[in-house]
Amino acid sequence: MAISRVRIYEVGPRDGLQNEARIVSARDKIEFIRLLSLSGLTNIEATAFVRSVSQMADAQEVYTSVRDFGPRMSALVPNRKGMENALASGLREAAIFTAASETFTRKNINSSIEESFSRFKEVMQLAADHAIPVRGYVSTVVECPYEGRIAPQKVAEICDRLIQAGVYEISLGETIGVAVPDDISRLLDEVTKKVPPEKLAGHYHDTRGTALSNVFRSLDYGLSVFDSSAGGLGGCPYAPGASGNLATEDLLYALHRSKIETGVDLGKIADASEFIRHAIAKEPASRVFAAIRK
Ligand code: MG
Repeated sequence: MAISRVRIYEVGPRDGLQNEARIVSARDKIEFIRLLSLSGLTNIEATAFVRSVSQMADAQEVYTSVRDFGPRMSALVPNRKGMENALASGLREAAIFTAASETFTRKNINSSIEESFSRFKEVMQLAADHAIPVRGYVSTVVECPYEGRIAPQKVAEICDRLIQAGVYEISLGETIGVAVPDDISRLLDEVTKKVPPEKLAGHYHDTRGTALSNVFRSLDYGLSVFDSSAGGLGGCPYAPGASGNLATEDLLYALHRSKIETGVDLGKIADASEFIRHAIAKEPASRVFAAIRK
């Protein structure tokens, strides 16, 4: 059945800002999230309870200020300590992360994939104790900057384990933005053997301008949740100067014009991008933003 409604998972305040060079004040982050909350979004990734990331050092202040804005606010939690801090801040949804590439996992979170799963156990237990839903992220689902192509079967196996661990949804991260629709087909042919499309989300980077076509291929597979960031916030750490996250404005434009509803107001997202562009002193990567703002 053709997908007629898509849920947008806005990742600008965390995934986006974390990959921006300029440190944004807690006050500006809160205002950015407030503006995003006026758009009709239902899900926003607000921050990360990760001590080692300086852009996210204000997680507690930001999270407690935004948690009641309306959309369900999620926060990335790397381990038990992060989860305890997040819970103390009134956490509504947790996100945990691993990757399909052993080398990437090692370089990114300094552990093996196996070790990342043993950390999840503690986080999942705390989440269950407090009835907090958990979303799982898998990075490098098509290609890794160190290992090259990743076998779709490997991704499927990790997704299967995450579902068994108790996550309600898995976001498939095409981290380096190289994939084209045929890569997505090869990926989803395998992953959907293990996990139904209703539990999968696409997190496709637009580094080479292919993210939207990958979204549309994913719709054919029954996926109806996609991650994006306002203005296309967040660069690509593997290609300095290049873009990373698909811009929410670009995604909304393409979906709405294709008669696929989202419930999100494109103009309101652009207002939030307009605000944050001053805080990061950088023009948004979004092409639709550029087309509608003069
Ligand atoms: Mg991303």
